[in-house]
Amino acid sequence: MGIPIKLHITFLIILPIFVLVFANSPAPFGFSVVESITLRYVFGGLAAVSLFGCVILHELGHSYVALKNGVRIKNITLMLFGGVASMEEIPRNPKIELKMAMAGPGVSLMLAVIFTLLYSLVRPVVGGDSPISILLHLLGALNVVLGIFNLIPAFPMDGGRLLRAYLATRMSYINATRNAVYVGKMFAFAMGIFGLMMLHPFLILIAFFVYIGASEEGEATEIATTLDDVKVSDVMTRNVISVPPTMTVSKLVDLMFKEKHMGYPVVDEAWKSVKGIVTFSDVQKIPRERRDITSVEEIMTRDVLSIVPDDDAFTALKTMSQREVGRLLVMENGAIVGIVSRTDLIKSIRLLRENKRRI
Ligand SMILES: [Zn+2]
Repeated sequence: MGIPIKLHITFLIILPIFVLVFANSPAPFGFSVVESITLRYVFGGLAAVSLFGCVILHELGHSYVALKNGVRIKNITLMLFGGVASMEEIPRNPKIELKMAMAGPGVSLMLAVIFTLLYSLVRPVVGGDSPISILLHLLGALNVVLGIFNLIPAFPMDGGRLLRAYLATRMSYINATRNAVYVGKMFAFAMGIFGLMMLHPFLILIAFFVYIGASEEGEATEIATTLDDVKVSDVMTRNVISVPPTMTVSKLVDLMFKEKHMGYPVVDEAWKSVKGIVTFSDVQKIPRERRDITSVEEIMTRDVLSIVPDDDAFTALKTMSQREVGRLLVMENGAIVGIVSRTDLIKSIRLLRENKRRI
């Protein structure tokens, strides 16, 4: 499907732990009944890798439905607690979100059925204590857990998305998100308290991650909806000061101190054409003693990203984070009409939210 699959660094810690747990747990959650220690670990490894294979299939389930509905998937990352498919934009269409959220647990429950069927076929032939039987039984059980756990109606689990999609059919999208985030946080609290009472560190850890995930989801939606109907022209800095390519870096530093802007378009005055963009981080790469003899042209970034004033402010924010740049030029009919930086946008988001709260 053209989706890069990445491994988060925490995955390297969790994989050997899973191998260890699987190798030494009693059936159906491990291979401790197997006599050969080598075989225990071989099958423990096989189970751990297969489990994460199932997690990838779960994420690909979401991704497949997303792609079919025109949502681009940046990548799938495997980490400490399963996988995450990062989408470029979560559709604010309850019907699509419902289908997308269902697809992952759907795949897991389907895998559960397949592995359980295989187990019931293989078991009479090789016996219940055979590592092959245990492996199939284990994968069947784990996929049930994966499917059910993800259906818990709390963000950031799939169930949280289902809940939001359902609520969004009866109220505004942002209120649906707020409610679903609230349920997620309450759930995390309950799980944390239960974990504390049972002295179960793993539960407390999951509760913590659920809480963080719920908060992040809420924050992302708040930002996207705060920027609704805000155009680039509303937040850009006008009266852009440009610098000539021949200017020395030390002169540029003086200008930065005077104007208090950190980035400038580099414009060839004779041709009125944009040559590049120069920022404070470009300046920092040049040692102080060389700044008098180095020109702006030598340090500028030539690949200039631009947008038009009519673009949505949220598009600008997305472009900046995707391309990992701090500012974009705003161009209209080949001329620079403004500049928009990440800091400008974040300031605007804060102001807009303050205003909305007051109203
Ligand atoms: Zn999922």
